[in-house]
Amino acid sequence: AAQQKKLGIALVGLGRYSTNQLAPALQETEHCYLAGIVTGTPSKAEEWKRKYNIPEKNIYNYETYDQIADNPDIDIIYIVLPNGMHAEYTVRGAKAKKHMISEKPMATSVADCQRMINACKENNVKLSIGYRLHFEPHHQRVMELGQKQLYGPVQRIEAADSFVFQGNPDRWRLDKELAGGGPLMDLGIYCVQGAVYTMGQAPVAVTAKFGEVTRPEFFDEVEQSISWQMEFPGGAVADCSTSYNENKNLLYGKAEKGWWRLQPSYAYGGIKGETSEGPMNIKNVNQQARQMDDFARCILENKQTRVPGEMGLRDVRILEAIYEAARTGKRVEI
Ligand code: NDP
Repeated sequence: AAQQKKLGIALVGLGRYSTNQLAPALQETEHCYLAGIVTGTPSKAEEWKRKYNIPEKNIYNYETYDQIADNPDIDIIYIVLPNGMHAEYTVRGAKAKKHMISEKPMATSVADCQRMINACKENNVKLSIGYRLHFEPHHQRVMELGQKQLYGPVQRIEAADSFVFQGNPDRWRLDKELAGGGPLMDLGIYCVQGAVYTMGQAPVAVTAKFGEVTRPEFFDEVEQSISWQMEFPGGAVADCSTSYNENKNLLYGKAEKGWWRLQPSYAYGGIKGETSEGPMNIKNVNQQARQMDDFARCILENKQTRVPGEMGLRDVRILEAIYEAARTGKRVEI
C-alpha cells in the first residue's frame, strides 16, 4: 500500500550533527531513509557514498543542488547547514518541490523565516523545524504536566542550556553572519522552546542582560552568555540563561501543587526526569528517528506537522526580542 512507501531524505551539510546523529538515526526510521546527500566536500561524498550505499546520481554539491528537482528518489530535503544558510537553502529546496526540514534556529531573522514559509506555501510543500524534543517522552510529559495543569497552574520555569566552547572546528558558531548570534541562537532556543511548551503559549514580554565577556578571543562578534526572563499571560515567569562558558542543562517547572525537573534535559539521550512525586521512570528514545518518521508520516497522510515553520518563526521573533531587551536594557513586548 502507499502507506508502506519509505520517503527518501537528502541531508544538506555533512557536519557533526548530520554525521553523528541524523545519518545513524536514518538507519532506524520506518517511514524514511537516507536517499541522498548535498555536500561541498568531495571526500565526504566518497565516504558517505560507500558507508551508506548512496547512488552517485543522488549526490549533489551546493552548485548542483537545484537539480535535485529532477530526482524522484528525494522526497524530503533536510537543511543541516550553519544557521545563516538555512533560509537560502530552504527556499531553493522548496522551489525544487521537495518537502523541507530546516534545523534550528530556523533562520537568523524573522524576515528570512517568513521567506521560507512563503516559498514552501507557494510550492505546495511542507516545512518543519528540527525540534527533536517534541518527540522525546520526558519533554512530552512536561508538556502534559504544564499544559494540562496536572499540578495546577504553572508559576515559575527555570531553563538553562550551556556548554564550554572549546577551540572547536565549527568556528561558524562565533561568526555573526553565519550563526546569527551566540549561545542564545544555538542553545538558548531550547530554553525558549522548553518554557513555551511547558506553558502551551508564547510569552508576552521579555527582559534580558548580556553576561561579561571573559574570552574576547572567541567572543568578539557574538555574545558569550546571556540571561533573560520571559513573562507569560497569567503571570508565570521563566528565568533562562545560556552560555558558551559553563555547563548547564536544565528544564524546571513549578506549579501550585508540585514541580518537575529534567536534568540533563536537552541531550540526545540520557535525559533524567523527576517530579515532586518521584522519578519519572521514562525511557530514552532515538529522538531524531522519531522526529523524521513523524514528518514522513505527515507527508504520507497529508497531516500538519507539530513543529511547523510558523513555530520556528515564532521562536526567532522571541530571540530577536531577547536581543533587543539585552541591548536596550528595556522590557520588550512581543
Ligand atoms: P558543523 O559545523 O559540524 O557542520 C556544518 C556543515 O555545513 C559543514 O560540515 C559543511 O558541510 C556545511 N557548510 C557549508 N558551508 C559552510 C560554511 N560556510 N561554514 C561551515 N560549514 C559549512 O555544524 P553542526 O552540524 O553542528 O550544525 C549544523 C546545523 O544543525 C546548525 O544550524 C545547528 O544549529 C543545527 N544543530 C542542531 C542540533 C539539534 O539537536 N537539533 C544539534 C547540532 C546542530 P559539507 O562539508 O558537507 O559541505
